Amino acid sequence: MDYEALAERLLPGDYPDLASYEELYPPRALPKGAQVTRLAPSPTGFIHLGNLFVAIANERIAHQSGGKLYLRIEDTDLKRKVDGAVEAVIAALDYFDIRFDEGAQIGGDDTYAPWYQRQRAEIYRAYAKDLIRRGRAYPCFCTEEELSALREVQTANKEITGYYGKYARCRNLTEAEILQNLDAGKPFVIRLRSMGDPSHKFIFRDEIKGEVTVTENDQDVVILKSDGIPTYHFAHAVDDHLMRTTLVIRGEEWLASLPIHLELFDVLGFPRPKYGHNCSLMKMEGGSKRKLSKRKDPELSLSFYRQEGYHPFAVKVYMLTLLNSDFEEWHMKFPDKPLEEFKFRIEKMSRSGALFDLDKLNDISRTELSRLSAEEMLAFLKEWAETFGSDKEKAYFSDEAYLLKVLNLCMGTAGKKRRKDFVTAGQAMGEIGYFFGEPQQKDEYRVDNETKNAVLAGFLDVYDEADDAQAWFAKVKSVAASLGFAAEMRDYKADPSAYKGSVSDVAEVLRIAVTGRANSPDLWTIMRILGGERSRARLAAAKA
Ligand code: GLU
Repeated sequence: MDYEALAERLLPGDYPDLASYEELYPPRALPKGAQVTRLAPSPTGFIHLGNLFVAIANERIAHQSGGKLYLRIEDTDLKRKVDGAVEAVIAALDYFDIRFDEGAQIGGDDTYAPWYQRQRAEIYRAYAKDLIRRGRAYPCFCTEEELSALREVQTANKEITGYYGKYARCRNLTEAEILQNLDAGKPFVIRLRSMGDPSHKFIFRDEIKGEVTVTENDQDVVILKSDGIPTYHFAHAVDDHLMRTTLVIRGEEWLASLPIHLELFDVLGFPRPKYGHNCSLMKMEGGSKRKLSKRKDPELSLSFYRQEGYHPFAVKVYMLTLLNSDFEEWHMKFPDKPLEEFKFRIEKMSRSGALFDLDKLNDISRTELSRLSAEEMLAFLKEWAETFGSDKEKAYFSDEAYLLKVLNLCMGTAGKKRRKDFVTAGQAMGEIGYFFGEPQQKDEYRVDNETKNAVLAGFLDVYDEADDAQAWFAKVKSVAASLGFAAEMRDYKADPSAYKGSVSDVAEVLRIAVTGRANSPDLWTIMRILGGERSRARLAAAKA
């Protein structure tokens, strides 16, 4: 077969010679040990926690080693493309402080551009043409119908599906047959002529999973589709080489394609990058683990965290907790150190599924939010509310001095120990709602209606907004005593049957009347912040 002529017939025209690409995209001048990593999302519009998980690992390893992280957009599959998806990816990752050095819309060094695969079509064709010339790729004229019939036969025979070995019909077409098909104008794809033997197994060192046994590829995978656009497999190999990627950390769903990728690197004459396949995020359901699913778990989508108002720092802390087993201890020891100071190690990454637990994230979120200053909290809430807040919530920011008082109280900034009332921005806005507008009664009174009214009436009689905390509490006690409640806890504890209850039950009535809830920060301070008029109005309104 005249491969040279075949290559010319299949991909006519002059393509740059491959050595020129090596010059155009030269090896990077980086210090020894520096890793070049990448994120290579397809612009489908859905960016999920798994992407963030992998992004953090790639980012840490690149930057910690003095290397680079770049963003490549794998847009070869137009059917899956969604407008605005690239901007959405960048915005989502930016929110979690993932900084790229170069790549699509990053504005960094563009030596290795273009970053969109569709703009690199000529490069892939040049490499494909070279493979045809070398007899390592061939045209395939099989139709969709023929391929699905083949799949059916293979499935019925319980065989591996695909285009390989005896099933690779077009692999052995003669030159005359090929020319006949081309003359007849039949559409074709270009396939790799695999030289692999599935009876050969070899050990591959995965950077995360350790030694894995890999079966040689024998699939004649499509490398160029009939429109001349490459498949993901082919494009990623060419790009990872020319963009001088040294380490690919990606989800373990790609492990199954590894044999194809290794063969492609080899046949293209590229040194292989290192690969690390990251375990999937799992969730407990019933008594068993399962993968997080797009359909069932809203928390899989990164937009969930923005909408709910999780602090990106807290999410990052949790992701790092899952990624590196010694991170949690380090962060507890040095809560104020920048996360970048933690020595991230690929060897510490989990080999099997990491368990994602929203309750654990919520715990971390409470702790991280409690470490903010009230001013930082205000800025965080404000940013969230601008996009996600209701009109009522947006109005909380019209008097920032007032809001700061509220936040200082709810965060316990004056006390020895911080309060941990806030989990997310969305939840925090709900928590402080009673400082704005009328409180919603969240908790029920535990005393009967008559007692409740008596408490409220008794307290309204003596309430004076000018009272300091001590004088205020003395009045609560006196109301308690006058209605048959123990004014002192120790008296009540000594003989509960002698009283209707204790001063804390009386205080709870006042608390629910003023805030709508049985648990709140210090009530005297709340009433101070609300002011005498509003406090009085609430006490009166609750008296029904
Ligand atoms: N485009 C692939 C994806 O969206 C990237 C796979 C890889 O990282 O090699 O998942």
